[in-house]
Amino acid sequence: MNYLSKIAQNIEPYVPGEQPKDQKYIKLNTNENPYPPSKMAVEAMKNAVDEDLRLYPDPSSTLLVESLANYYNLKEDQVFVGNGSDEILAFIYPTFFSGKKLFYPDITYSFYPVYASFFDVEVVTVPLEEDFSININKYTSLEGNIIIPNPNAPTGKGIGIDTIEEIVKSNVSNVVVIDEAYVDFGLESAISLIDKYPNIIVVQTLSKSRSLAGLRVGMAFGQAHLIDGLNRIKNSFNSYTMDRVAQAGAIAAIKDRNYFETCNEKIIATREYTVNKLKDLGFETIESKANFIFTSHKQVPAEELFAKLREDGILVRYFNKPRISDYLRITIGTQAEMEELVKTLEKILK
Ligand SMILES: *Cc1c(COP(=O)(O)O)cnc(C)c1O
Repeated sequence: MNYLSKIAQNIEPYVPGEQPKDQKYIKLNTNENPYPPSKMAVEAMKNAVDEDLRLYPDPSSTLLVESLANYYNLKEDQVFVGNGSDEILAFIYPTFFSGKKLFYPDITYSFYPVYASFFDVEVVTVPLEEDFSININKYTSLEGNIIIPNPNAPTGKGIGIDTIEEIVKSNVSNVVVIDEAYVDFGLESAISLIDKYPNIIVVQTLSKSRSLAGLRVGMAFGQAHLIDGLNRIKNSFNSYTMDRVAQAGAIAAIKDRNYFETCNEKIIATREYTVNKLKDLGFETIESKANFIFTSHKQVPAEELFAKLREDGILVRYFNKPRISDYLRITIGTQAEMEELVKTLEKILK
């Protein structure tokens, strides 16, 4: 007997980057932040672990929503929070995408097709150009909704706010979702377009630029009618997606702007260092606006480099997929970790 539903039998689940326990690796494979979360956030979470945990959390995360609205200069009804931005994306599909075509780049975040299959949404992939850039002409006046990560994953390539505005403006009868998981590492957020356009949703996360992947906090921004839709779906699924500890930690992390900016600056500087060093070793790297780089060696296949780095205790990500099988995606770690990566690659390539 197979007790699984048709959906459970047929779905092809997302495969996250490995989190091995067998030995200590330099982990450059899942785009985690190498720096610890804000001390203020850790303190706030410790303080939230008390007898009040017997009580359900605030289902609307009012204080967190308030602090995000203040931070980004939005109204409270323009803010939605969720258990990681992956969960928010999972809500976005039934809220907006069901029953219409969905357009996204052929090379993009690999969770999008999984949700599309789960929620039975028809996908049209739009090929990126040869250099992995987005051709805006392919995104104007489409007959369906659009989701684009900016910067894109796994290429790290970014598009400017003008391009996003063109896309949003020319698709007013559809929703345009901009997934800004990595925006803090070098791009301007599209949040500034929200008041102007009724059809844009911006999704962000505390997982990358705020070093809180373990806490699971994501947020979405858009006009009130869009956020209201997300709340309708969320409250049909789980009223308490944000626990007390997560709400407290997230509020403090948002408040600690100085620490956030200091860590980001370090990562950006280390990214530029790494790109230059890899260039000397024969790598070509796509210009990155993220906390990872997408890089290809002119002679040695990426798969081989991936395996050799692993043997030497360094984990990176390799995707055996059309168009990108010559590339490694390498998360930017601390300066010391990246110096170790460069040293190891020098040894391997010798
Ligand atoms: C990491 C990532 C997410 C998910 O982030 P969480 O908030 O940790 O769920 C979403 N979109 C993209 C493009 C990502 O790389």
